[in-house]
Amino acid sequence: MHATHRAPSEFLAGRVRDASPSPTIAVSDKARVLRAQGIDVVDLGGGDPDFITPEHVRKAAADAMNAGDTHYVAANGTLPLKKAIAAKLKSDNGLTYDPSEIIVTPGGKQALFEAVMALVEPGVDVMILEPAWVSYAPMVEMAGGNVVHVGLTPDGNWRITRDLLEAHVTPATRAIMVNSPNNPTGRVLEESEFEAIVGLVKDHDLIILTDEMYEKIIYDGRVHRSLASWPGMWERTLTFNGLSKAYAMTGWRVGYVAGPRSFIDEIAKVHSHSVTHATSFAQAGAVAALTGPQEFIGDMVSAWDRRRVAISRGLSSISGVECPPTEGAFYAFADIRGTGMDSMAFADRALQEAHVAVVPGVAFGNAGEGHIRISFATSDEQLETAAERLGSVFGRR
Ligand code: PLP
Repeated sequence: MHATHRAPSEFLAGRVRDASPSPTIAVSDKARVLRAQGIDVVDLGGGDPDFITPEHVRKAAADAMNAGDTHYVAANGTLPLKKAIAAKLKSDNGLTYDPSEIIVTPGGKQALFEAVMALVEPGVDVMILEPAWVSYAPMVEMAGGNVVHVGLTPDGNWRITRDLLEAHVTPATRAIMVNSPNNPTGRVLEESEFEAIVGLVKDHDLIILTDEMYEKIIYDGRVHRSLASWPGMWERTLTFNGLSKAYAMTGWRVGYVAGPRSFIDEIAKVHSHSVTHATSFAQAGAVAALTGPQEFIGDMVSAWDRRRVAISRGLSSISGVECPPTEGAFYAFADIRGTGMDSMAFADRALQEAHVAVVPGVAFGNAGEGHIRISFATSDEQLETAAERLGSVFGRR
């Protein structure tokens, strides 16, 4: 007996019926299934720092909770946290925001989701530079908008040019989503690429959603620049960031968006009607993270820097695989075109035969085909084992 006469799918909205679950989470799920069968899987699929949140941050949150900070707080975030974020944006990024121009969200992902809900509707085109983080396109689609996939090419080191952007802009384009340092490619944008984006956005009267989540995780002396700091860009930029990656606080769910009040006040409607606010005592921990000692970040990044070089060497020794050291974030985006396999086939074989979970590049858009993403935010030993196993299965040069 069916409880309803309609098929379950008839109750679903098109926006979810047509959406796929996150492919990166799907990889981790598959790895978990193998582990449950007693197989020792090295999971390089996720994007979670392999460090525990610093002690003083944990203590600040625990102290807040024990002191009774267990109630609803201001929807857009506590004033001490919004002030700490404003101070960070000023000192790190040269950006001036009043606390009223900031919304604290449960993770940076929620900030992006809320902004997309506030800005995108049917008939609106949003440009996404691909390979791109897996959630941008589904967010735009769930809001009823149309994704314009701007495919970058590996042979030009995923470089963004004005010509490429111009070839994709339409009269319906309202926004462009930018992510530097990039997940999955690790690319850190250069001056000429910033100029291409800024020129396009000004000439076509667009707004930018800039995801700067990995700004602190950057190598070889490269420098992160915030798009909102370019002349004339503050007014047309929403800056997204969070504490997940830089402070090893993924599970805390603290992120934020900063931008002009004309946008922030509207995004706040989506925020208050969905999540109310980010967790009260997590926000107390976030204040300690932003205002306390910062050395921890450098220590973490040095460890990833070492692993970045090691994994690049390990992967490049596999026949058909090229993997120069990444520029930023903690992902190696290895070129596997020389193996003759597509990214899904490679990732499946890596999991089933080498027991190493990696993400197929196609998960990041068609432009990511021919690549796999490996997270090196894991121990040196795990990375060594992974390279060893992949070498045995796919062969060495
Ligand atoms: N943006 C990018 C590019 C990411 O890789 C991630 C997490 O993996 C996020 C945003 C969201 O991070 P969180 O929601 O943990 O702040």
